[in-house]
Amino acid sequence: MSEQYQFAADTGKILDIVIDSLYSQKEIFLRELVSNGSDAISKRQFDSLQGAAAGSFDGMISIAVDKKAKRLTITDNGIGMNDEDLKSTLGTIASSGTKAFLEQIEQSGEKSNSQSQLIGQFGVGFYAAFMVAERVEVLSKKSDSNQAFCWASDGKSGFTISPADKQDTGTAITLFLKSDAKEYLEEERIAHLIKKYSDHISFPINWLDKDGELKRLNASTALWTKPAKDISEDEYKSFYNSVSASYDAPFATLHNKTEGVVEFTNLLFIPSVAPYDLYDPDRKSKLQLYVNRVFITDQCDELVPKWMRFLRGVIDTPDVNLNVSREMLQHSPVITKIRKSLVKRVLSELKKSIEKRRDAYQNFWDGFGRVVKEGIYEDAENRAKILEVSFFKSAKSSTMLTLDEYIDAFAEGQEEIYYLSVEDPVLASGSPHLEGFEAKGVDVLILSDPVDDFWLANTADYKGKTFRSISRGDVDLTGIKSADGKNADDDQKAADETKSADTAVAKIKDVLSARVADVKPSKNLAKSVARLIADENAMDAQMERFMRMHDADFKGAPKILEVNAKHPLIAALNDRLTKGDFAEADDFAELIYQSALISDGKQVDDPHTFAEKLAKVMQKAL
Ligand code: ADP
Repeated sequence: MSEQYQFAADTGKILDIVIDSLYSQKEIFLRELVSNGSDAISKRQFDSLQGAAAGSFDGMISIAVDKKAKRLTITDNGIGMNDEDLKSTLGTIASSGTKAFLEQIEQSGEKSNSQSQLIGQFGVGFYAAFMVAERVEVLSKKSDSNQAFCWASDGKSGFTISPADKQDTGTAITLFLKSDAKEYLEEERIAHLIKKYSDHISFPINWLDKDGELKRLNASTALWTKPAKDISEDEYKSFYNSVSASYDAPFATLHNKTEGVVEFTNLLFIPSVAPYDLYDPDRKSKLQLYVNRVFITDQCDELVPKWMRFLRGVIDTPDVNLNVSREMLQHSPVITKIRKSLVKRVLSELKKSIEKRRDAYQNFWDGFGRVVKEGIYEDAENRAKILEVSFFKSAKSSTMLTLDEYIDAFAEGQEEIYYLSVEDPVLASGSPHLEGFEAKGVDVLILSDPVDDFWLANTADYKGKTFRSISRGDVDLTGIKSADGKNADDDQKAADETKSADTAVAKIKDVLSARVADVKPSKNLAKSVARLIADENAMDAQMERFMRMHDADFKGAPKILEVNAKHPLIAALNDRLTKGDFAEADDFAELIYQSALISDGKQVDDPHTFAEKLAKVMQKAL
């Protein structure tokens, strides 16, 4: 005799929303049903291990179709359900969280595309079957029972439960497919979906053809569930290649099982070759999230910070509900905890690599350094640790340095980390900005990645040492003892000498007044005639470049022209002017300024006038 039941209030309506919204992603129904089957087998296995149920058995899921009747049946030999189970578990739709979320969307009255996509991230569990079926029958026999039952519903009004015949323990779910879901009668389509979503399920999933032949559909290669000691490097590599669609050997492989408040396994790879889409503006993570070997999503952005988007691989945790929405995943404390420990793990791996395999790390840095540096800018929590594994070019070193190495090599009396921000590293060698530092044997970091000026803007120091731009404001080197034994007194003497250029400085200032903020004698120039520096609080070279990219007319704040009083040219000019001889003084001032622009890699203000004046001066010299 069959019992008639009504769905809980609203269930029908919610089902409608789900079916409607998931329309383009109907295929996930199979993932949901297969993973329910897998769970049921696990439960039965557990029971049999506990001795609660007699005998051992081999878990299996099979999928069969009846093309004529348009029926798709998914069978498992798991724990099964009795009439009570069927009533309580299949009588209520979805988890309460899912339900609340769906109701909220329904209330808001609109269903935009993005909302549909959001709902698409839901597993709605068993009820996903109604997206493709007009009627669903669940025939089940519980492991400790002799009586089987059949649950049947059209997913609209309610369901019936009636006693039924079934020999074996387990559950067979039959979908009477809707006319627009005939594709799920095709072996190829089913095989594809199993591969896509359920390949790593540990029990065999078989295609049962009409002659009773079984054909294995899943590989069960959940490599991450094996102990690391049983996995060869080749196996790791080929798994990495398949999970990331890449060909390189990973730079690093992180395979760990974490137990504790949150349990999860990570099999992560740091690539050695940058993928083509590393700089895509959406900066999405590609990590795959599994719940007990069931693929959930590869779009869980909260798993790792954006700067770690180069990671590939798998996270598998039993602590996330299979039916959790993407929306809820984002705020899940479980995901937050996983994220924290992943970041820690990756950073410590990077640090270890600097110590143990510097060349490989250099290669990694060449491909991914710029992305890692995004983290210095936006991942405040991990900033110090990211800085610790960052590599920098320097004026003195032929290889890249870490900040610790740079600080270890501080000159006597040096307190700050000096850097030169340049648009192109080529401009650094021989740059006038470096002369004062070279003279004292002080090393300077050369920063030429566009992201550098961004993180520098919000990163005051590293381990208590402040970052100091050498092309901005006055950098006072008098306290630093130079390598050749010169001391602060010599610096003072040098500074005194600069007084002698006062007349030249005044004249140049007069000529350039509209274009520079100031003209002054330099403390830090040794060879060059002049250089342009920015005000202490102004932008550095790369920030200016960035601004120009957005506004072609962007000029930036006027610079300060520093002239080298010790340079024979300035000395001679000063002499001449003091004697009241002003011939060509305007041209000299102009050429000095334009040359300083050129040495910073900038365009001269007016190329033709510049060439003309230069020709005039050369002609005179002949
Ligand atoms: P979830 O799997 O997240 O609990 P579902 O809606 O998919 O949500 O399933 C509801 C419940 O129905 C399951 O928790 C399980 O108890 C039961 N169930 C579903 N499918 C099966 C099955 N094949 N065998 C045994 N029990 C099942």
